[in-house]
Amino acid sequence: MKLVRFGEAGCERPGLLDAGGVVRDLSSVLPELDGAALAPASLARLRALDPAALPAVAAGTRLGPPLARVGKIVAIGLNYADHAREAGQDVPAEPTVFMKSASAISGPCDPIVLPPGSAKTDWEIELAVVIGSAARRVPEAQALEHVAGYCIGLDISERYWQLERGGQWTKGKSFDSFAPIGPWLLTADEVPAPQGLPMALSVNGERMQHGSTADMVCGVARLVSYVSSFMSLLPGDLIFTGTPAGVGLGMTPPRYLRAGDRVEASIAGLGAQRHEVIAA
Ligand code: MN
Repeated sequence: MKLVRFGEAGCERPGLLDAGGVVRDLSSVLPELDGAALAPASLARLRALDPAALPAVAAGTRLGPPLARVGKIVAIGLNYADHAREAGQDVPAEPTVFMKSASAISGPCDPIVLPPGSAKTDWEIELAVVIGSAARRVPEAQALEHVAGYCIGLDISERYWQLERGGQWTKGKSFDSFAPIGPWLLTADEVPAPQGLPMALSVNGERMQHGSTADMVCGVARLVSYVSSFMSLLPGDLIFTGTPAGVGLGMTPPRYLRAGDRVEASIAGLGAQRHEVIAA
């Protein structure tokens, strides 16, 4: 099932994408597409619906982030060996965990807004894991039972604030529009192998990143288990699982986003995002 939210920013309604690519309005059966809507019983109820019986949403309607009321974004750094290498760092002995503000979330085709004074805003395509049921100290073998689905997540990163202003990475990771997710949330039953998904990102039509979730140092099950050993993962939380090589920081010389740039990102089965970069 491909779940979406559609409509103007701040007024989105829940929907699903039918087999023909038409958005169907779920607002008569679901108040909001949030963590509560991802409970197994709720998803089973949605799965039993006949999409053709739901109102069709006009083509061209804006898609928003496919999940509302995200509690937190837990992000994993340096989880692809080729990206760690380009960043001049060793693959850490244990996963690098940092937080990204939930207020950074935006829609899959919304502009990426450069913060005032930004000279080093960079791109990172990532597989985002959507938590569907509370996970606390779950063993790796049961971890995937807590995953409701997956979507594309861009971990947009201002490297000056992230790396040169001292302290932790969160400062450079949390500006508004720095966490576009979507276009849809694909439920986990349709992702039997989360470690085999090709992904790509281009800037102005030039391919910058291409990789596969197969190359993660720690896979989804290990990450859910690991993070849940430090904090409760709750329905509607997200884990951003790290990015493969090809970010602007790793280029010689480094290359960063400028107003007017176009960013496109895709992951197999999870659709594609398209963003224009604008100045604040
Ligand atoms: Mn990242």
